[in-house]
Amino acid sequence: MGALRSATLPPTTDSRFSMRTFNFSAGPATLPLSVLEDVRAEMLDYRGTGMSIIEMSHRSAPYEAVHRGAIGLVRELAAVPDEFDILLLQGGATLQFSMVPMNLLASGGRAAYVDTGAWASKAIADAAIHGDVYVPWTGRDGGYRRAPEPDAIAVAEGTRYLHITSNETIGGVQYRSWPKVDAPLVADMSSDFLSRPVPWERFDLAYAGVQKNLGPAGLAVVVVRGSLLGEARPAVGAYLRYEAHGEKASLYNTPPVFSIYVMEKVLRWMADEGGVPAMESAAIRRSQMVYDEIDASDGFYRSPVDAESRSRTNVVFRIADPGREPGFIVRAAERGLVGLGGHRSVGGIRASLYNAMPVEGVEALVAFMNDFRARRS
Ligand code: PMP
Repeated sequence: MGALRSATLPPTTDSRFSMRTFNFSAGPATLPLSVLEDVRAEMLDYRGTGMSIIEMSHRSAPYEAVHRGAIGLVRELAAVPDEFDILLLQGGATLQFSMVPMNLLASGGRAAYVDTGAWASKAIADAAIHGDVYVPWTGRDGGYRRAPEPDAIAVAEGTRYLHITSNETIGGVQYRSWPKVDAPLVADMSSDFLSRPVPWERFDLAYAGVQKNLGPAGLAVVVVRGSLLGEARPAVGAYLRYEAHGEKASLYNTPPVFSIYVMEKVLRWMADEGGVPAMESAAIRRSQMVYDEIDASDGFYRSPVDAESRSRTNVVFRIADPGREPGFIVRAAERGLVGLGGHRSVGGIRASLYNAMPVEGVEALVAFMNDFRARRS
């Protein structure tokens, strides 16, 4: 990984981009430079306390302010109505694959799960351990090229919830509009939370690992209708019940304080930048720049995703001659464009363009793609 140039260069803040790579990795992912500088400045003495935030009690007043501030900012930015609780949980999005059915299927009933790719499949496999699950729509036979049309899903009567993966981080498939069904939606929004608005009236729950758009790894944000908090099966351990983490309860156990502290700063950065509307237009602009380059390449690059489902946060593409892909990734890294390898399960190329990716990074990527294509012969 000679690509991690910053590790070998002396730290400097003189030129904002000279020491830092443009990091296109899918998560953990690039964070706003101003947030990192802020964290560095506060590391030895957090606001006159004589210690860093990661050394003090999670029940201390300074930490509590950070914790409450982070929850408040998620509520404000995502426009979460009062009837939902916002929980900050460990175990990443993966633990939610189990916690969702453990809690929401406690009183029996079936859940429908849409299969749009690798992450949906994982959610389905775990949910099937804890409850009665069926799959009303799968993209598997079509090679996971698209998300379903809004009215393509029919759920059986009595379906407790419909689980969707709003953005398939590996496959680069994203819902443009939400399914229209007679069941509440539950969504894994790990890779597009806070990059688009959410119509909460259609949802019972949404969750996201934060290491993409929101902060460093170690945490999932779970937004759950408060009326559902008490539903967990009696036989599950306390941590696994949403109820233990409700906003009205005091902290159930030691939270991942560093992740929450950094996330709070990232959320403040988002608010300063104009909130979700600004994040959404930036996501559209960034992704369109790369898709335009793919589409103008006379087939040199190609997107394996149908045009109407192309992800705005994970742009997946191939080179018509796949033998050139390793060279693309290595040469890009030499130019400071790193993390462009596709997920190890599928290969190819993937540019993850989360909220903190500056447009300069995308301009550099597009210029590189153009150059790489021009030199093909
Ligand atoms: N769902 C999606 C859509 C993801 O992209 C990921 C991680 N890449 C996960 C779930 C799993 O998240 P975590 O690693 O936080 O458990």
